[in-house]
Amino acid sequence: MNRRNLLKIIPIGLLMTGGVVGLGKLFAAQKKSPEAQTVDNKAPKKMITLDELKTLERDPERITPIALSDDDWSKVLSPNQFVILRKAGTERPGSSPLDNENREGQFVCAGCGLALFESNTKFDSGTGWPSFYDVIDGHMGTSTDWKIGYPRTEYHCARCEGHQGHVFKDGPRPTGLRYCNNGLAIKFIPADSTS
Ligand SMILES: [Zn+2]
Repeated sequence: MNRRNLLKIIPIGLLMTGGVVGLGKLFAAQKKSPEAQTVDNKAPKKMITLDELKTLERDPERITPIALSDDDWSKVLSPNQFVILRKAGTERPGSSPLDNENREGQFVCAGCGLALFESNTKFDSGTGWPSFYDVIDGHMGTSTDWKIGYPRTEYHCARCEGHQGHVFKDGPRPTGLRYCNNGLAIKFIPADSTS
């Protein structure tokens, strides 16, 4: 529900449920809406080893959710990648060379190698972060992030749950979406290297 619709409904809610109690109930209901909850991660996760993680990197399509301890993640990720992927951090804008990567290929999760974006959905958003207008179907999960006081939609790799970025509704056609991604959270695989 957008803010304008919500503002229209608040006075009706007050009339129907009566005063302050009604308003409290309304906001409680709003916070519990499906949009405010993690929409995936329901599948049981398989705890894996570092050796099994290496096998997954050669299989960029299999999306069975996996789990690895923080200790193991810190062995395969750089400190900055660990903060972004495992602790939902954000890199400095303009810091990723992938912002200017325009070759044909796929962008895969830097944690587990799952293919996340096709290069033909990449566009220059001018933000300094690699940006895409679509994801590979079924390979990304979302949740609502209240970190900075208002809701933003966080998205993450469907396989290892590594945080990738936030999605906004000011992107180009055909989706109108802007997936604002941390460059350190993805790796580029050129098309000529996958055949
Ligand atoms: Zn992943």
